[in-house]
Amino acid sequence: MNVTLRIGIDLGGTKVEAVAIDRDGRIRARRRIATPACDYDGTIAALVYLVAAIEGEVGPCASVGVGMPGTIAAATGLVKNANSTWLIGRPLGRDLEAALGRPLRFANDANCLALSEAIDGAAAGCGTVFGVILGTGVGGGIVIGGHLLVGANQIAGEWGHNPMPAPQGDELPGPSCYCGRSGCIETFLSGPGLAADHRRHTGREFSGPEIAAAASAGDPDCRGSLDRYAERLARALASVINLIDPDAIVLGGGLSAIGFLYDEVPRRWGPHILSDTVVTRLLPPRHGDSSGVRGAAWLWPPPEEATEQSG
Ligand SMILES: [Zn+2]
Repeated sequence: MNVTLRIGIDLGGTKVEAVAIDRDGRIRARRRIATPACDYDGTIAALVYLVAAIEGEVGPCASVGVGMPGTIAAATGLVKNANSTWLIGRPLGRDLEAALGRPLRFANDANCLALSEAIDGAAAGCGTVFGVILGTGVGGGIVIGGHLLVGANQIAGEWGHNPMPAPQGDELPGPSCYCGRSGCIETFLSGPGLAADHRRHTGREFSGPEIAAAASAGDPDCRGSLDRYAERLARALASVINLIDPDAIVLGGGLSAIGFLYDEVPRRWGPHILSDTVVTRLLPPRHGDSSGVRGAAWLWPPPEEATEQSG
């Protein structure tokens, strides 16, 4: 067995990617295929194929971690909260472990981002890290001392369905959310949330990335929407800082590409944080789209530590 290599798999809605990563974080093999959408057995077969392809190239690896949409409920072993809906209610963990003949670890995209950036990414060396996904949804993950905080209900870091803190005027009751509540952080800070806010204020249909591009080109309406977005992100992150006081917050997902946020949000979060000085840094991701596979691989301890623990 090639004890120095760990496999990480990112099971996404459109593609499945797998890598073998060495203990220094170097990627030694990489494979990517289209996700067999709406096909549960096909999804299992795709992951088995990728692991076989990777190990065919670099030899048997020490461990396999999987980043996936949603979570596998500890009580039932069934997938829940996944936007890849054909996985919901299926025993993905058990079936995949049986198909691959080895134990696996699973985490959602936000937890993979947080782990990847904390281990050897933008927040390397930081004691406490909050990783944030700002994309079609809003998620979060917490890493403390290099270890992912999972939580009793496996929802540690899931701040997207908390209410927007200190709501102002037209933010109450706020947009209705698919979770059944109104005014959730996600309804303002996801890509669709930013687009909906822009539509409410201007009547124009722009996507999140289009608003960011037009704002940098000088469009005052788009700049206004980004200002509101930054102000809301500042309030939402201030409540996280008050709770876990992280050394660094790393953004991921499509909206993390908006450079404006990294100066603007820390300038605005101060009044909402219970400290006269705030040293928490807001950082862009180092690994970008590779955070999913890298974080999945890091779900397992280094092979040499695993051997020491079991021996
Ligand atoms: Zn919600």
